[in-house]
Amino acid sequence: MIGALLDEVRSFLEDLRSEFPGMFAPARPVPPRAAPPARPRPGRLACGERRRRAETELRETLARRLAFWCGKMDLRYHKLRIKDQSTRWASCSKKGNLNFNWRLLWAPPEVLDYVIVHELCHLVEMNHSKRYWAQVAVWCPDYKKHRKWLRVHGRDLGRGARPGPGSAGHALDVDRDLHLVAQQGAAGV
Ligand SMILES: [Zn+2]
Repeated sequence: MIGALLDEVRSFLEDLRSEFPGMFAPARPVPPRAAPPARPRPGRLACGERRRRAETELRETLARRLAFWCGKMDLRYHKLRIKDQSTRWASCSKKGNLNFNWRLLWAPPEVLDYVIVHELCHLVEMNHSKRYWAQVAVWCPDYKKHRKWLRVHGRDLGRGARPGPGSAGHALDVDRDLHLVAQQGAAGV
């Protein structure tokens, strides 16, 4: 019964198809979905390359400035590392390893020097006590100005042109970073 009915429908459709070919779109094979490209998109690639170059350049600058400040302050650090930290400009571990954010490449030289002095002072004082800041002030009397610069312009570093004095930005939270790092037994900017 049902089979006969189906045959009837089928033959009806066949007739329709032959009479009105335009009504039925020819069956088109569905192309297999293209696999996503294995390599990163050009934008990402350029970004990674940009960061790599910035790291290399910053490492050279930091090594030079650290040598200068270590000589002056009579201090020694263990290792220098460039990192992609989203909440810290730099940090100093108990082992004497210094970590710097790659975006510091775009900081003015005097601000970079302040960050260096800040970390080197942590080799002596692993805190942000009054005694610690007094040490920073000995080597970097304008440190408050540089801290403020980082607070105001820090967010713009590495995101296009060097920020001008009028540009507004949100700085990384210096004091909050300190607390985060202090819990891990290190100190950061
Ligand atoms: Zn610090």
